[in-house]
Amino acid sequence: MKIVDLRSDTITHPTEEMRSALASAKVGDDVFGEDPTVIALEKKSAELTGKEAGLFVPSGTMGNLVSLLSHCPRGGEMILGDQSHIFLNEVGGASALGGIHPRIVANQSDGTIDLMELEQAIRPEDLHYPPTSLIALENTHNYCQGTPLTPEYSQRVGTLARKYGLALHLDGARLFNAAIALKVPAEELTAPFDSVMFCLSKGLSAPVGSLVCGSGEFIKRARKYRKMVGGGMRQVGVLASAGFVALETMVERLAEDHSNAQAFALGISRIPEIEIDPKSIKTNIVFFKLKQSRLSSQIFLRKTEEKGLRILMIDEGVFRAVFHREISKEQAEEAIQGIKDAFV
Ligand SMILES: *Cc1c(COP(=O)(O)O)cnc(C)c1O
Repeated sequence: MKIVDLRSDTITHPTEEMRSALASAKVGDDVFGEDPTVIALEKKSAELTGKEAGLFVPSGTMGNLVSLLSHCPRGGEMILGDQSHIFLNEVGGASALGGIHPRIVANQSDGTIDLMELEQAIRPEDLHYPPTSLIALENTHNYCQGTPLTPEYSQRVGTLARKYGLALHLDGARLFNAAIALKVPAEELTAPFDSVMFCLSKGLSAPVGSLVCGSGEFIKRARKYRKMVGGGMRQVGVLASAGFVALETMVERLAEDHSNAQAFALGISRIPEIEIDPKSIKTNIVFFKLKQSRLSSQIFLRKTEEKGLRILMIDEGVFRAVFHREISKEQAEEAIQGIKDAFV
């Protein structure tokens, strides 16, 4: 039985082209700034996001962390969505390592934060308050059905951030999914932000790595923080080369993942035990719920596994399926059948 693994797009393997690129990559000591492949990847990433400079980091988590450390002083406050990956899934690194205080505001179902609530969360000058330093958004928004934030919304938050002199960071782990779904250049989505992180190791299928992009001054600080947290890597052009191939060959095809995700969502919306609005699916991530039924979440999960289908349980009764390069159209259909069969 071939397993249909929808747990995450991080499970994607490097392509043959990536493997041959990394075998022949020109490398040097990147801590000395001497790895030509890393330099080329950072340059390309800066161009794609419309920023001055880029920084290759081992993971998205480290990319967000060094960005937050570079923007916020100890005791500063960062405003985040309550469903954001930075708040929920990054081990509280910004607080633990940077002394940065999180201020949480509700994410709406489309991943946005209401602009009025956002503005109200910005602290006025007061003896008792930590100073607000930064706002962070997420695009696409993982826990909000992978919804892409539009350039218009991001611009409005940018205007707000500038009005109050705050830094604006984008957790763009799946930035290119957003760009493909909205049919706009990535640059348009990143324009209002002072810094942006995106991942190579998710839908883009590279084995390792993320990029942070921003102004030259900002990247200089981020590079120092990367060294501090142990992210200075040596002949890492072997990894950067695969990332370079990812940016050249894996972006356009994300549209296939989006259409498979939509087909899957539509298919399972016809199953009486499943709750989902298929129209809310815009990229490669599908969240769905189990209606009150005979099956407990655990048994449902076990039954889907028995049918060769792997999904993630996010919460009691809440599941996530993520579409990626290693899931064909046929397998997306099989996945619908797998969910159906769990109830018979
Ligand atoms: C995966 C992810 C990250 C972190 O990336 P890692 O490489 O897993 O550390 C950050 N933000 C979002 C929205 C993500 O989905």
